[in-house]
Amino acid sequence: MSNNKTILAIEEKPLIARRLAVVPTTNCTLNCRLCGDFLFTGGGVERRDIPFEDVCRDIDACFDLFDHVEWLQFVGGEVYIYSDFAKLIRYVEKYNNRFNKLVIETNATIAPNADEQAAMLAYGEKLFVFISNYGDNSYEREMFIKFLSENNIGYSLKKYHGKDQYYNGWIDNTIPRDLKEPGDVLEVNSKNCPQNRIKNMHVYDGKLHRCSNSCFMLEMGLFLPKERDFVNLRDNLISREEKREILNEFYDYARQSCRYCKQKYMAVLPRFPAAEQM
Ligand code: SF4
Repeated sequence: MSNNKTILAIEEKPLIARRLAVVPTTNCTLNCRLCGDFLFTGGGVERRDIPFEDVCRDIDACFDLFDHVEWLQFVGGEVYIYSDFAKLIRYVEKYNNRFNKLVIETNATIAPNADEQAAMLAYGEKLFVFISNYGDNSYEREMFIKFLSENNIGYSLKKYHGKDQYYNGWIDNTIPRDLKEPGDVLEVNSKNCPQNRIKNMHVYDGKLHRCSNSCFMLEMGLFLPKERDFVNLRDNLISREEKREILNEFYDYARQSCRYCKQKYMAVLPRFPAAEQM
C-alpha cells in the first residue's frame, strides 16, 4: 500500500515550464551581424515560417506534456512578420488558465495591425511585451509604445543602441567551433550557463530544446544531435511518460551544442554594439 502511494506521488509530481518560447518564424525585418540565432546573411540558419497548423500542433503537444507554464512566449525572428500571428495569439487562449503570462518579444520594426491588436487586448494585464529598442532601426517603436501605454499593457524597452546598451551589448557567438572542453569541464560549464540557469525552453518546428543555441546550432547542421538533446514533439512512438522523463532532467546535462557555444562564458566575453546591420 505504501509503495503504491510512493509511486502515485512520483507520477503526480507536476511538470512546470518556467519560460516556454515558441518560434513561429525565423523571418526577420533586420539582418544583424551578430544575431544570436544565426539569421544574418550566410549565418547558416534558413529564414522561414513554420505553418500555422504545425505551430499549433507543437503548442498542443507542449500543453500535453506540461502541467503548467509560467511564461508562454512568442519569439522570432520577428513575430509581427508572421502573417498568422493574430490567429496564433487567439489560438493559445484555450490554454489561458494553464499559463501565467503571455510574453511577446519584438524588435518594434512593425507595429501590430488591427487584428493583432484586438487579439492582444483579450489578454489584458496577462500580456507583457519585451521590445528590443534598436534606435533608428526600431522604426515603429513610438507607435508600438503608444498602443501598449494606452491599453495598460506591460512592456519593457531594452536599450540596444548608442551608449549604455542593455548588458553592454551583444557577445559574438557567430562562428561556432568545437571548443574542445574536456567532458567534465563541459558538463559543469554547461550547467552554469546563464541560459541554462534561467530555465528557458525553445520550441521550433516540432522540437523542444532547452535553449535557442541548441535549437539553431542544430538547424545549422553543425553536428548530429545526441540522444535527449531535444524532445521531438511530433514523434508519437515516444510515450508522454518518456518525454516527461527527459524534461525532468532537461537542465542537468550538456547538449551537443554546448561543445560549440560560447554563451556559457558570456559574463566575461567582450561586448559589441547590438544589431549592427549587414
Ligand atoms: S552553452 Fe550554449 S548551447 Fe549550452 S546551454 Fe548554454 S546557451 Fe545553450
